[in-house]
Amino acid sequence: MADYAEGHAVVLGAGFAGLFAARVLAEFYGRVTVVERDELSAGHAARRGVPQRDQGHELLARGQLIAEELFPGMTAEMVAAGAHLGDMSANARWILEGRRLARTRSGLSIMACTRGFRERHLRARVEALPGVTVADGLAVQRLTTTPDRGTVTGVVVARGGRERTLTADLVVDATGRGSRTPVWLEELGYGRVAEDKHRIDVGYATRYYRTPPGAFEDDVSINTLASAEVPRGGSTQLVDGGLTIVTTYGILGDHPPVDPEGFHAFVKSLATPDIAEIVAVSQPVSDVVRYRFPANLRRRYERLTAFPDRFLVLGDAVCSFNPRYGQGMTVAALEALTLRAHLAGRERPEPLTFFTDLAVSVLNDVWDIVLTTDLVFPGVEGERGDDVRFIHEHVGRLQAAGMRDGDIAVACLRVFGLVDPPAALFDQGLLDAVARVEEHSASNVPTA
Ligand SMILES: Cc1cc2nc3c(=O)[nH]c(=O)nc-3n(C[C@H](O)[C@H](O)[C@H](O)COP(=O)(O)OP(=O)(O)OC[C@H]3O[C@@H](n4cnc5c(N)ncnc54)[C@H](O)[C@@H]3O)c2cc1C
Repeated sequence: MADYAEGHAVVLGAGFAGLFAARVLAEFYGRVTVVERDELSAGHAARRGVPQRDQGHELLARGQLIAEELFPGMTAEMVAAGAHLGDMSANARWILEGRRLARTRSGLSIMACTRGFRERHLRARVEALPGVTVADGLAVQRLTTTPDRGTVTGVVVARGGRERTLTADLVVDATGRGSRTPVWLEELGYGRVAEDKHRIDVGYATRYYRTPPGAFEDDVSINTLASAEVPRGGSTQLVDGGLTIVTTYGILGDHPPVDPEGFHAFVKSLATPDIAEIVAVSQPVSDVVRYRFPANLRRRYERLTAFPDRFLVLGDAVCSFNPRYGQGMTVAALEALTLRAHLAGRERPEPLTFFTDLAVSVLNDVWDIVLTTDLVFPGVEGERGDDVRFIHEHVGRLQAAGMRDGDIAVACLRVFGLVDPPAALFDQGLLDAVARVEEHSASNVPTA
């Protein structure tokens, strides 16, 4: 194993990608500094760097597993502080194409809480690690490099107009979708990184409520996914602070309104009344807050022919996905594991090798899931070749069978939760189970 014990790693951004990265870097570097522009002590409202902070955020099952592996005991800690834990199938209502997936115990957990609550708990655990400092109120301005621009040596940060330089043996950019790395690379002479952009124009709106006990029955969350027939979706979760969060979204400009009447009408227009029934018995405790997400965006760092040494990029700064699929935090966690593998196996992470591995081991599958699924919406631009039509048909069959059979539903949820790869949807045992369900339902169709 490489030994960086004397070294200093600097992480830019204290979002999920930055925090997961800091956790892994602390295994290898004597000092890790996470530089964050927002004043974190000023509280939730001051968290301008994450404008999506108030929208409902669910951590997928794989993300939950990794978070617990990296921070043992954190799940119990968060539940004790007010998060709601349940089984991903038995305690969550999944509504696809206007019908509920069948339920059974999946053995996979989901934990419902606000994004801010999850981030605060994660940050507290990161700050407690030996050698780690989260330095807030510091805005990263630019990189510093060796004179030949071949190696990054640190960053210039500013507080209230006063600049200073932090030297580093490794810099990791996790500043989110607005990352300046593409500009910095161009200024340093590395050229423009290629970007893949796929328009989805999804609009989100969220409101917080208090809900009487029992309204969710045994569930912690209810998810109505947008479909080709009803391209509007939403979710409601029991979260920390005794609150309920209701988030809705619509694609391609069909955005939920932020006035209370319009918001409630939008909730009622979803494929089933499940979320509207929760709203009907709940008391609103906030305004409606909106967020607009224009396009899936992937920066193809692995395609550059040169990249400065001792510099990496992670999280939304590399790839941000249509939030409908709830993958961003889990991808950040998976990327931290890739980072750990590269720190453990080499002298130092070699950036282009790292980006290639990130693409192959984490991003390609998730990106394909998102783009292929987005194409079910007729207005989304993109090629709908035989392969895409085949996958849509196959997933449609699985989902229809999953409405009747809990094990098939769990197989779908495991892929959706990034626990199993998409190839698992073609597992022979699963195909046989689907055929049995189809045969059984065909034989039960009443004849005229
Ligand atoms: C509406 C919506 C809903 C979503 N729902 C889900 C969900 O249900 N599940 C899920 O997993 N994901 C969801 N996501 C995605 C998720 O928010 C992100 O993917 C995830 O937070 C990882 O982001 P990140 O850490 O890379 O970047 P961010 O969360 O954007 O964090 C970047 C950090 O860098 C800081 N920063 C930026 N510039 C500077 C600078 N110059 N100097 C210092 N600091 C800087 C910012 O203040 C911020 O703290 C959703 C996204 C949206 C938009």
